[in-house]
Amino acid sequence: MSESSTDTPAEPPEGRGDGAGTSKIEPAWRKLLGLGPADNAPRPVSYNATDLAQLAHVFEESGRGWFWSVDADLKITYVSPAIADRLGLAHSNMIGQPFQSLFRTDHQDGAGRINRSLPFVLGKRGKFSDLAVRATNPIVPAGQERWWSVSGSPVEGRGDNFRGYWGSALDITESRRSEAESTRLTASDTLTGLASRHRISQHLEKTLTAYKVAKRSCALLMIDLDRFKHVNDTLGHQAGDELLKQASQRLTRVTKEDWEVGRLGGDEFQVIIPDMDDRGTLGETAKRIIAIISQPYTIDGVRCVIGASVGVAIAPYDGITSAELTRSADLALYAAKNDGRGRFRFYSSDLHDEAEDRRQLEDDLRDALAQGEIRLVYQPVIEARTNLIAGFEALLRWDHPERGPVSPAVFIPVAEDANLIAPLGEWALRQACNDAASWPGAARVAVNVSPIQFAHEALPAIVAGALASSGLNPDRLELEITESVFLGDGADTEATFSALKKLGVRLALDDFGTGYSSLGYLKSAPFDKIKIDQSFVRDATQTINRNAAIITAIVSLAEALGMETTAEGVETLDTLDLIRKLKVSHVQGYVYSRAMEMAEIYERMDGDNLKIEPSGPEKTRSDRKTVLRTVGIIHEDHRYEVMMRNLSRTGALIEGLMDVPKGTKFVVDFGEGQLAVATVKRSRDDQQGLLFEVPLVSDGSDGLCTRHRISPYALAAAGMPLAALPPGKYPLIGHGSREGAARHFSLPTFAQSNKGKDAKRVA
Ligand code: C2E
Ligand code: CA
Ligand code: CA
Repeated sequence: MSESSTDTPAEPPEGRGDGAGTSKIEPAWRKLLGLGPADNAPRPVSYNATDLAQLAHVFEESGRGWFWSVDADLKITYVSPAIADRLGLAHSNMIGQPFQSLFRTDHQDGAGRINRSLPFVLGKRGKFSDLAVRATNPIVPAGQERWWSVSGSPVEGRGDNFRGYWGSALDITESRRSEAESTRLTASDTLTGLASRHRISQHLEKTLTAYKVAKRSCALLMIDLDRFKHVNDTLGHQAGDELLKQASQRLTRVTKEDWEVGRLGGDEFQVIIPDMDDRGTLGETAKRIIAIISQPYTIDGVRCVIGASVGVAIAPYDGITSAELTRSADLALYAAKNDGRGRFRFYSSDLHDEAEDRRQLEDDLRDALAQGEIRLVYQPVIEARTNLIAGFEALLRWDHPERGPVSPAVFIPVAEDANLIAPLGEWALRQACNDAASWPGAARVAVNVSPIQFAHEALPAIVAGALASSGLNPDRLELEITESVFLGDGADTEATFSALKKLGVRLALDDFGTGYSSLGYLKSAPFDKIKIDQSFVRDATQTINRNAAIITAIVSLAEALGMETTAEGVETLDTLDLIRKLKVSHVQGYVYSRAMEMAEIYERMDGDNLKIEPSGPEKTRSDRKTVLRTVGIIHEDHRYEVMMRNLSRTGALIEGLMDVPKGTKFVVDFGEGQLAVATVKRSRDDQQGLLFEVPLVSDGSDGLCTRHRISPYALAAAGMPLAALPPGKYPLIGHGSREGAARHFSLPTFAQSNKGKDAKRVA
């Protein structure tokens, strides 16, 4: 070991130590170095003060810690030289400075607790340890400061005379940072104030663990904003942030106190609803969320509109652990997105990975136009008074080589997200103009224009180009625009409107009555027609809602402003009747015709056959769908497999049981714990019409599901394994897996027809 240099700490406070006094100094250094008492340590050599100073020097050089000493005035008498560099100070200048001047005194630890400040602690002249302080350093940028954990012991002179401190400090910057990071993660999302990703996933984890024991249910809603990316790209990130804030506030407005609402990042949100397994209520909740998010926003004076899609999974049915439940909710969300925008969807085991599906669809869509897989069909628009064809709406069709026909309701949103809507829209516009120009008569053609196309300044030029190259009279072209075009810059919207009007084309306001309809637009924008949305039209025959009254108001306003009205989606004669009574001028719907191929149009026009007689069902019925699948029917002790022929919210038609008397009560087992009590209302041979005691609810897509399910815990109690529910049907309590159990079974009451036996084989 060398002799001490000027760098080595050899001196205790007050200068002159005795230098050779190992016995006196050693314990203090040992302590500072974190060594045990000297007595316990092996003693191969005895250190003198110089050796120990050297040891300390090695430690100091490591940068992990340092030593300090102050006099009775708390001025620095010694500080490890290495620390000067780290603090960005000259070592020589540090001696004689007040010790506390090295540190900032806003001592807040990572969790936000206020520490006692260093001057206060030093002033007490007592021993202290592990005081976390932040180094003062004007040159170091914020976020890169160093943190120290400082300890000190008073040096007492004769007769309780305070002579300063000896002390050490450790660099705790790294652990501080990770602590701060984890607090950041556990706290709320800084942008929206909702729970952060970390916190909400912890919350879910905890809730599910606790609920598993208590056998309670818990719903998880996964929410994704539609068209957010578009707003972010066109209005900028700041506007995007503001939009996320406002959307979050709205989200909290429709959620209850004991629900946990969080942002997962980006435009994804999650809601945890404890003790909830009612899919009727959850569907309503999802709809409310979608509706409130879809109202227009004003950001920096600019209007904009987004939407939302929601996926719902419920523990313990769709998953027991948070990973399982999250995956299920994710799959449901993607399924909702794939159904088009503004939808919700419940998880069901037959959902496959729709995220992958959507990516694939997007890829395929890129080539679809070039491959000639996309075409237009035309649905007649009829003058209600005369039944004469007034025009046609051009509707896109995609004949996918593997999937078959893909609905535009599915692929238009995909095209919008993938920046494919501009070429697709332009193609549709040109094609429709060319087609219409070749029609024998002078029927109009209506073309749908996506709000994204509308926001593009090139639109008027594209329309002008399509008119010019087809030679179509501008008066025969009608552009259908939805209210969401009032998104974005008001001035731009107005400029586009007036440029289009100058071209002489007609404008129609599409899908009126959905979401955020405002009659205000009608007064200011130069529309020639209002298209009343089918959901609005279809409900109008029900006396419980006020749609009919609202349609009357729309019609009289439209008449006053010289606009036409079209009722969309009219399927039944009773609706047509009502629509005519309400003086809606035009009708478009299956009651007259579905979309036609070009050839059919030529035929009609050539033959001057412009009249279409309405035909269709008399009345709007509760949506009855043809389905063909097997279900279980439980009657007394028996479970039969039967074929289900159709299904509505209120009932089903089954086939397979012979001679069942009217009034018989069944339990219908739809699988996956879905049971419905039903009464036989009609019965003939092997077919029965059933009426459900509790109506089914929408699964968000085209399907129906039961409000509640038999808990997997109940199934477990009946001998089923308790895992996240595997797909498939569950034999019922007392049947299937328990067949062998010591239970007395009666004979089956009903014989099964061949259909029933087939069903059994299929199942
Ligand atoms: P939309 O503009 O509301 O078009 C009317 C939709 O309702 C069409 O569906 C039509 O087939 C359907 N429909 C008509 N009558 C009835 C009826 O009586 N009952 C029922 N249930 N449906 C009826 P489609 O062709 O699947 O189009 C769906 C949506 O896709 C359109 O809704 C439109 O928003 C969009 N779309 C279609 N073609 C284009 C296009 O060329 N460009 C753009 N941007 N969007 C398009
Ligand atoms: Ca339309
Ligand atoms: Ca429409």
